[in-house]
Amino acid sequence: MQSGALRNSCISLYTKVRNGGSVSKTRNRSGSGVLAGGMSKKYDVLVIGGGNAALCAAIAARRGGASVIVLEGAPKFYRGGNTRHTRNMRCAHDAATEILTGPYTEDEFWKDLLLVTGGQTDEELARHMIRESKDILNWIVEQGVRWQPSLGGTLSLGRTNSFFLGGGRAMLNALYFTAEQLGVEIHYDAEVTDLVIEDAMFLAARLKRPIDAVNEIRATSLVAAAGGFEANIEWLKEYWGEAADNFLIRGTPYNRGSILKMLLAKGVQEVGDPTQCHAVAIDARAPKFDGGIITRHDSVVFGIVVNKHAQRFYDEGEDLWPKRYAIWGRLVAAQPDQIAYIIFDSTVVTSFMPTLFPPIAGQTVAELADKLGLDPVALEKTVTDFNAAVRPGTFDHTLLDDCRTEGITPPKTHWARRIETPPYLAYPVRPGITFTYLGTRVTKEARMLMKDGRPSANMFAAGEIMAGNVLGKGYAAGMGMTIGSVFGRIAGQEAAKHARN
Ligand SMILES: Cc1cc2nc3c(=O)[nH]c(=O)nc-3n(C[C@H](O)[C@H](O)[C@H](O)COP(=O)(O)OP(=O)(O)OC[C@H]3O[C@@H](n4cnc5c(N)ncnc54)[C@H](O)[C@@H]3O)c2cc1C
Repeated sequence: MQSGALRNSCISLYTKVRNGGSVSKTRNRSGSGVLAGGMSKKYDVLVIGGGNAALCAAIAARRGGASVIVLEGAPKFYRGGNTRHTRNMRCAHDAATEILTGPYTEDEFWKDLLLVTGGQTDEELARHMIRESKDILNWIVEQGVRWQPSLGGTLSLGRTNSFFLGGGRAMLNALYFTAEQLGVEIHYDAEVTDLVIEDAMFLAARLKRPIDAVNEIRATSLVAAAGGFEANIEWLKEYWGEAADNFLIRGTPYNRGSILKMLLAKGVQEVGDPTQCHAVAIDARAPKFDGGIITRHDSVVFGIVVNKHAQRFYDEGEDLWPKRYAIWGRLVAAQPDQIAYIIFDSTVVTSFMPTLFPPIAGQTVAELADKLGLDPVALEKTVTDFNAAVRPGTFDHTLLDDCRTEGITPPKTHWARRIETPPYLAYPVRPGITFTYLGTRVTKEARMLMKDGRPSANMFAAGEIMAGNVLGKGYAAGMGMTIGSVFGRIAGQEAAKHARN
């Protein structure tokens, strides 16, 4: 904690916060990071990052009585990382709410997590997160975020996931507003380029650009909430090889994993497989970075997917879309030239959420193939074989229906219907990387563990940077925000507690 006059002013401020009184916005700002004599000011809690995890941590730490500084590497307009693109969050709840259509128990959440990860999760941590998620539904509202009833659509999330009114940006604006009102000091364009860590203790962060002539920020506790390394193509190439050049990054170009890399280099234990990530099939015409949600295709279950040789390569109807949409990025990444095509016909065009990009159309399968640059004969054969294998059933994309194929490999085990009504349509898709799972290992208190197994006294992590603790692989929609909110809040509380003590 600070000494002298600053300490006294902090104590009165802490009292104010604890008593629920309004907090001066200027207290932290008055110092502008510099104390008399040119020394950099020491904060109780430094939060690196500017997305959901960082803001939840900053608010929780501030409410816990700490002086808090947030360093967001992006410029103000781009503040909020991948969180800007989000729409919803998955939380356990025992009964329907105004916006959720029914209960989603801790047990069901846990079973879903087990299923999508194939058991590759830290059970203690994951169960803790699920339990805490119940409270987040209300806590996040107390921070100014508002919910809206979910939209229909292929993800069928109305019971399990709460949607942010106005989307991720509105959610972030509310969190930033609350943080500012509480007196959290926030800096943009404030990329951290080095961390001073000694004997598992965080001491200071160094900045690319000085803030008010200071380029080193000291703090009693650190919360690292600086995302994964998905926007660092060179790092992705270490595991994926040249294929990574064909990946499109769905979110912020600022998540380059620099903080993660520094922490691992300075003795923090890593968790997760570096090749595991959340990756979906997005339109091949999307921009390299930041294309966001409107580039994602949810039409897989309504058709078939072929590679550049016009061959199907995976069961398009394996499971409900919310449990399968996040495997398609990896599946496409494994195909030649990392490109694939979703093929469907005119009968289903209104069945899924339209994307930014119109489908490519042909009056015949051969004409469509021609436009896609595929071998017409090969695509015609694939479609004909598929149609011949379709068995009649009652179509319902909200459940595992009985529309399936027989006698072809790979099968389509649900939602199989003939593709036979022109115009024939297609979306070209590439792997759209959402976020990576390699991260820092943490305890239930969001405290980082060192390589030798010691818990760090003052370093905490939240969000994508530690998602691999819970997500060994796979994904269930809305969990990115659960991980960020739950562990962000815990990290902030624990960081403040450490600073207090
Ligand atoms: C298109 C899209 C849609 C998504 N939709 C959903 C959804 O609906 N529900 C869901 O649960 N998840 C969704 N996700 C995933 C979700 O966005 C993330 O899991 C979540 O936002 C992660 O929050 P975070 O705070 O950990 O990271 P981010 O929000 O990405 O924030 C990381 C921050 O760290 C900053 N930073 C990085 N390096 C430095 C540095 N060196 N110095 C200072 N700052 C740095 C970045 O600028 C950024 O602000 C979506 C992702 C994308 C891309």
